[in-house]
Amino acid sequence: ERIHTEQQLRETNANLVATRADLQESFRDLEQAHGELRSTQSQLVEAAKMETVGRLAAGVAHEVKNPLMTLSLGVDYFLNRDTDDGDEAVLVQDMKEAVRRATKIINILLDYARPRPLQRVLSNLNTLIEDSLTLVRQQLNKGHVTVRCELAERLPAVRLDRSRIEHVLVNLLSNAQQAMPAGGTLTIRTAASGPIRNGTGGPGFVTVEIEDTGDGIAPEHLEKIFEPFFTTKPAGQGTGLGLSIVRKIMETHGGSIQLHNREAGGIRAVLKFNLNEKEQL
Ligand code: ADP
Repeated sequence: ERIHTEQQLRETNANLVATRADLQESFRDLEQAHGELRSTQSQLVEAAKMETVGRLAAGVAHEVKNPLMTLSLGVDYFLNRDTDDGDEAVLVQDMKEAVRRATKIINILLDYARPRPLQRVLSNLNTLIEDSLTLVRQQLNKGHVTVRCELAERLPAVRLDRSRIEHVLVNLLSNAQQAMPAGGTLTIRTAASGPIRNGTGGPGFVTVEIEDTGDGIAPEHLEKIFEPFFTTKPAGQGTGLGLSIVRKIMETHGGSIQLHNREAGGIRAVLKFNLNEKEQL
């Protein structure tokens, strides 16, 4: 009987050990599921917030667009009148500039809320980078920024909307310049990664990196930079819409954008264009 009881005890013990391992595994699964739920929840909250902001912005933009048009016509009328009064001329010029800036922001907002469909064509990102650099060349030169291009030689073409991606690049280049008010170095790098690079064909991705030597982003701001209207720039200089629009454009392309603080100082912005999405091949 004793041997039998010992045998039973051993079996029970073995069962307990197995149950314990099962429980531990279930616990790990639960923890993982919990983590996933939390991140999905915060993504949903973020998406709902963006939608509300988008709708609000579109409503306001629509209402403000027409009065701005009237103001713009009025300012043009005064601009076309001959006047000897220098002060008056300066004032009207300032008004013209203010109306131009307000109209630009309204158009950005309307575009943000109701973007037109993408017009994708197979494009070479290196060429787009050079075109975008031409657009900001004057701003870079004036800001004493040295540009270093490290563009990959045989970059696979990506199916993208050129004017939208140019908008992305110009925004990032311009942010980089503004982050280096005393001048600095801007490095632009392109690369193809994944199996394509190994010559095996198949899916992969193309990355564009834009690095600056500015002061970087305070850790407490890092998670806010993609929120619409978040800006650390003085009023009149930043709208806080740049990065949120950039992210939206990258997402509609099935790609992504990340900003990191570099160890050497400054920011590295990484754009990733997936080549494995069917519509991009
Ligand atoms: P804006 O440029 O109008 O402020 P953005 O959405 O483009 O709006 O940027 C939001 C904020 O992110 C900026 O105000 C700035 O604080 C930070 N930021 C963006 N790019 C950089 C950069 N290259 N270096 C440092 N800070 C940056």
